[in-house]
Amino acid sequence: SNIVIIVAVLAAISSPGTIANAKVEDEVATMRDALNRLGNEFPTIRDPAHVLRRLEAFQMTHWGASSSGNLQEYRTPDSAAARAAQIKQSGATTVITNGLQNRFNYPHLADDIAERQRVVAEACHQEDLQVIDHLDLTIFWQSSYTTLFDHSDWAMRNLRDGTPIRWLCMNHPEYREFYVQYLQKLMRAGIDGFMLDEISFHDQQRAYCGCVHCRTGFERDTGVRFPEYRDDDVINNLDHPMWRLWWSWQRRSIAQFKAMLLERLRAINPDVIILAYSTAIYRPNVRAVDMLEQAGVCFIGTEGTNTVYPGYANFYSQHRILSAFARRGGRPSWALYSANNAPENRFAAFHSALTNSGLWLSGDAVAQVYRWPHWREARAWGQPVGDIAVVLVTSSRDGNVANAAAHCAETIGWCQAFGVGGVQFDIVTGRHTSADELTRFKAVVVPHAPSMPFALAEAIDHYVRGGGVAVITGNVGHQDPLGQPANGHSIIQRMGIDQIETIGAIAYRREAFEGVAACKLSVADGALPAAPRRITVPGTYRFDAHLNAQTPHGVLAQFENGEPAMLSIPHGRGRYVYLACLAGLAVHQPRMHKSTVWGHYLDVDTVALIKAVARHATGDRDRVVVEGDGVLSATYQSGNRVWVRMVNVSGVELQEGERVGTLTPSFPPVGPIRIRMRMSVGDRATLFSPDLDEPMVLELVQEDREAAPESARTVTIPHGAFTQFAFVRFELQ
Ligand SMILES: [Zn+2]
Repeated sequence: SNIVIIVAVLAAISSPGTIANAKVEDEVATMRDALNRLGNEFPTIRDPAHVLRRLEAFQMTHWGASSSGNLQEYRTPDSAAARAAQIKQSGATTVITNGLQNRFNYPHLADDIAERQRVVAEACHQEDLQVIDHLDLTIFWQSSYTTLFDHSDWAMRNLRDGTPIRWLCMNHPEYREFYVQYLQKLMRAGIDGFMLDEISFHDQQRAYCGCVHCRTGFERDTGVRFPEYRDDDVINNLDHPMWRLWWSWQRRSIAQFKAMLLERLRAINPDVIILAYSTAIYRPNVRAVDMLEQAGVCFIGTEGTNTVYPGYANFYSQHRILSAFARRGGRPSWALYSANNAPENRFAAFHSALTNSGLWLSGDAVAQVYRWPHWREARAWGQPVGDIAVVLVTSSRDGNVANAAAHCAETIGWCQAFGVGGVQFDIVTGRHTSADELTRFKAVVVPHAPSMPFALAEAIDHYVRGGGVAVITGNVGHQDPLGQPANGHSIIQRMGIDQIETIGAIAYRREAFEGVAACKLSVADGALPAAPRRITVPGTYRFDAHLNAQTPHGVLAQFENGEPAMLSIPHGRGRYVYLACLAGLAVHQPRMHKSTVWGHYLDVDTVALIKAVARHATGDRDRVVVEGDGVLSATYQSGNRVWVRMVNVSGVELQEGERVGTLTPSFPPVGPIRIRMRMSVGDRATLFSPDLDEPMVLELVQEDREAAPESARTVTIPHGAFTQFAFVRFELQ
């Protein structure tokens, strides 16, 4: 309109800088729209029901060699039949074959490889085992030059100067067709699925791919043209909005490529699956590969470090988050445990039951667990039961690594504290969450998430106005997912907070936070009855929330200097609870290696604080609560059965400053453990454990009915009733 033009002219006269800023604003708005569009366009392909049932019971083991093998072990019909029978006997459902990993480099062996795989597939199918072939088809070297001679344009090109690299680009149309046909040949030999490695944009160097197909595809899908010169402001600059958009587009490229493969393969075998995995599930995004985006197409998994037993808390949080990603795509997830010995393998199997993960383990080491008559029920697929949800604000994993690391640590810390604290919870992926979906929960936790989609801020606010409780920690939503100021769209403004100031600076070097300090807080009289009155939260960051003068609020806790540490802010029919320090970061157990120096994890008082905050947020009306020290727990429901699953982790006792090394599981007695139950279940529950000769019947006892007619019922598991692992089965009525 005319008014707009006049304003623009005035702006031009008064300040040349304003026009430049307006142009930047426009560009950012274009990129923001493009990002939203991309986010809504991730492909999803569902699995047939019988395939899903198989994935829910997934237990995979190696056929033989590792990736450095030659696909020649157990390749005669007799030896293959014997190996398949042995694997079947161990209880595994699926076999993975490894060897000649960088498959593009053996063009002359393609037919021969298919025949070798046929021997395995035929033997396995006799035993009703599925066969996954593990390979990559993207990395090349000299032996493939005869193929490359005619297709030099299949190689990725550097964004800076256009030079090619020894990695093929999945966006090249001819190469895509080559890829499909290669896999189809293996499928015709009987392969049931593929673990496809290295489908990425050679992200070790973070400067790929600038081929014509990538550049034109990006411009077509986003309306943004990527610089065609060496623009180091953009290339690999995690804080630049265009680079974030570029990575987002690349992530979608990867998912679309795999979707294309799956569709083409399913034309031959409708049951085929594609596996994908990553070591980085909830860590700062330092490359354009992520499991969340692939969850719509692939059966996603993760491999961890070889600190399975001492690292139980980190694995618990990562695997539960991965499971939340996978559920979003309509599938289960799986985990590879690098256990060091037989007891650790068994521990890994029990641990997987808590996170509802499929298993990739050496079958022989866990045959004892697989043969336990109640194992199928122990790990049965179900929906998590929880009245509080941790919201994953995945866009906060992008950008500046220190901020992303703090976000991840805070997020996994809350999950870990809930896991050891007996708070039964669920996890939702924020990017896809609507206010309606949040109403399943009495409360949600939004851990320190500097960069948040506007739609999520709106959904959370809508949920709170409708009666929900949102626990917000740290600094939340002051940036959009491109890292740009959120201005009027930030969630803190909806909460009635003008600004949140970080005290000091968040810094992260060599996998450790710097500038953290203990902070002491005291809980207000009458608030959070379950929490210790005075708590020292170890190594954390603190924040100052500048409340708008009109914002009604109560102070639940304060810091030593009198500043508020925890606020209750009524909002519509619900409430925000604001926590001005990162309690999750303070307690979280990081990803560990054997050389990692053990730290102070899961501080007892801070875990108690987190539990008390959860209890406060849900109004102490949780359907299931586990009370007892030394166990990690999770609750699942399927049909009319509810299972509370518990692993004894009380034997993990390392001293601060000690190297983690290898820790063999030990199981000091735990208990009594009380399960408080508010679901309408029968008067009896049953405790199952491989440590028990017979299942144990437990009575549900009504808590003080006189005092509280709606009080929970409780079952008590006696001290020492189980050693390693147990689950309690409740029947819904
Ligand atoms: Zn390319």
